[in-house]
Amino acid sequence: MLFFMKLLRAIFASFLIFLSLLSCEKPDDGPRHLTQEEIDEINAKKKEQQKAVDLTRYVEYREGDCPIIFCVPHGGTLTDSSLKQRTSANCPDPDFACDLDYNTRELASAIDDAFFARTGKHPYMIVAIVKRTHVDFNREKKYAIASGDEIASSIYDYYHSCATKACRAVSASFGHGLLLDIHGQSHSEQIDLGYLLSVSDLNKTDAALNAGTYASSSSISHLSRTNKAEMSFASLLRGPNSLGGLLYSNGLECVPRPGNASPGATPYFNGGYTTKKYGSFYGGVIDAVQMEFRYSYRDTPAGRNKAAVAVAAALDEFTSVVW
Ligand SMILES: [Zn+2]
Repeated sequence: MLFFMKLLRAIFASFLIFLSLLSCEKPDDGPRHLTQEEIDEINAKKKEQQKAVDLTRYVEYREGDCPIIFCVPHGGTLTDSSLKQRTSANCPDPDFACDLDYNTRELASAIDDAFFARTGKHPYMIVAIVKRTHVDFNREKKYAIASGDEIASSIYDYYHSCATKACRAVSASFGHGLLLDIHGQSHSEQIDLGYLLSVSDLNKTDAALNAGTYASSSSISHLSRTNKAEMSFASLLRGPNSLGGLLYSNGLECVPRPGNASPGATPYFNGGYTTKKYGSFYGGVIDAVQMEFRYSYRDTPAGRNKAAVAVAAALDEFTSVVW
């Protein structure tokens, strides 16, 4: 009997709970679209979140005090779960790549140290901390990030706003500048110096290079017209006082240079997005060279320091000749 009473009580209690749930249920409005006000509010919140991202975690920027700018887009090693992974599917880049330019951050820092030790001056530095698997700064934006990654988009914009700021400051203060886009390659035993000229351009004779429109379509167009030594374009590219000539006389193997005018059949990078965007291809007073360092110039501290001292010397000598 006692059990029967308990059962009745339990059934009654359940019924009361059911009634209370019914009375709490909201009337069903059905699906509805967001108002413009609500959309604006969501967008404003998103912007606030992006602003809250500390972009200096992903890109290092340092102002310099001389007309030299280093960009280092592919040496970053930071991965971040709040960023998407770039893939060939979400970046429709015909030259899609995610490879790390191993130790180029460290190499750029060693060159900066060696240059300061020699001249007392620091170049401007724009250096990727974030890994290329998230952002490729040496690409136009549509190829640089995974589609829809808004934080990566802000990071990309920040890197290029720093590069633009550096170029403007150098242009205004000095009236000329040299931007080096620093990379690493593993396809040859030299430094590829990229001026936006193809291998077939570099295969031409000095006379042909000087006679054509090669200078004006290179990344050192401004320097070809204004260099103080009045070097011809071919001399500026691969004569004894070219950057390649001076790197070689300081002990570094590179192309183009005197005696190694063109890479020929050896794989070679001739300059990418950064070299084209910030060099004098489009005008202006900043010239740019893409430098692709072979592995032994960046693999160990000793290798890097040796290369850094030679690059600093070549840079100092080259800029003294042309400015
Ligand atoms: Zn690279």
